[in-house]
Amino acid sequence: MRRSLLMRLAWRQSLLRLVLFYAAAVAIGLLLHRLLEVLLVATTLVAVRSYWRLYRVSRFLDWRQQLHAVHGQGLWAALETLVYRRQTDNRARSRRLVRLLRAYRQAAATMPDGAIVVSRSENRLIWFNKSARRLLGLNYPHSLGTSLLATLPGPRIEQWLRSGNTDDPLMDVASPVDENLRLSLRLLRYSPEEWLVVVRDVTQLMRLEQVRRDFVANVSHELRTPLTVVHGYLDMMEPEDSPEWAPMVGEMRKQSQRMTQLVEDLLTLSRLESQQSLTEETVTMEPLLITLRREAEALSQGRHRIVIEDEARCDLFGADKELHSAFSNLVSNAIRYTPNEGSVTVRFSRTPDGGARLAVQDSGYGIPAQHLPRITERFYRVSTSRSRESGGTGLGLSIVKHVLSLHQGRLEVDSEVGRGSTFACVFGPERVRPRQS
Ligand code: ADP
Repeated sequence: MRRSLLMRLAWRQSLLRLVLFYAAAVAIGLLLHRLLEVLLVATTLVAVRSYWRLYRVSRFLDWRQQLHAVHGQGLWAALETLVYRRQTDNRARSRRLVRLLRAYRQAAATMPDGAIVVSRSENRLIWFNKSARRLLGLNYPHSLGTSLLATLPGPRIEQWLRSGNTDDPLMDVASPVDENLRLSLRLLRYSPEEWLVVVRDVTQLMRLEQVRRDFVANVSHELRTPLTVVHGYLDMMEPEDSPEWAPMVGEMRKQSQRMTQLVEDLLTLSRLESQQSLTEETVTMEPLLITLRREAEALSQGRHRIVIEDEARCDLFGADKELHSAFSNLVSNAIRYTPNEGSVTVRFSRTPDGGARLAVQDSGYGIPAQHLPRITERFYRVSTSRSRESGGTGLGLSIVKHVLSLHQGRLEVDSEVGRGSTFACVFGPERVRPRQS
């Protein structure tokens, strides 16, 4: 009896424990469920908020958006403030740049010189100012995108644009608006893909230059006749009849010859200056080199060793008389500025780019380096006395320079005092012709 009571009690206790345990488990489960729900809601809220801040930052990064100052604390606010500050700085900087660009454009637009931005690849007009419209007859916006060569046609402009020469302006270009309007064009590096062409009205300058040229040509021409008469009479004088006159007559003949040469050189120079192109043909170099040798030998009178090296085996395309005049000026200088027993070598060779080069090398006095940039100027002499003594007019190298420029060639000078000089006429491949023999 007692035993069954005990058992019943134990059983009831266990049942109670079980109920309590289940109740506790249910309560904990419910609690956990609620907690999870709260956690889920909280996480969703945090995610939505983060997404919203991220969206704001991305809107800030899009720089077309109107910006607002950021208030608040935390990582997102710090990030937004940073982006806001960057964007504000960038906007201020770009506003400054736009203002600067406008000022530059304004300055370029009001400049009296024409300014044109041209693409380097196809010479197409990208931008031009008011003066360019006036000077070249350009039309906005129709001329945009057209080639500069359509406005200024001709091989001279084409060659100049192709050369990319930013050092020397192209002078005396006729305006397409009016033939009498003379322009100078200057090429400037604007960007890796574009040139800036500056167009200047040089009509007045060209007119003055023409007056100067005409004056020199007229004076030279007027001097020619009296000089021929003086020269003629001097030649007729026989100093043998009165030997005391012999030195004076000799000196007078020498001076009148110098003057004749000076007048001839001045006339040649003004003729070259007034021409934009020459009558051109194939110049056969073999007979020309033989003539140069003959001239050198006549001038040297056996005092120098003269060598002609014809390595190019090609001819030149150009003006025969003018090229001959340029080459013989260089040969004459080499003989005149080389002491007795020296050597003069004329070498005609090809250049690596397919062009040709006629070099006159001497073992003469040489030219100090500081004089080299100026020796092609009219009447510029390194030593006036030596030039006069040797019968120089001071115009030889100016003639050479002009002849070469009319052939799109260049003069290269290499000289060392006491060792000699090399004057080389360099021609582009377009001037080379195969030899006809
Ligand atoms: P010039 O008639 O006086 O020779 P150029 O114009 O031919 O005038 O030459 C200008 C100057 O350059 C000369 O006066 C001379 O001083 C110098 N020069 C020219 N060629 C040579 C040369 N081969 N060697 C040394 N000096 C030279």
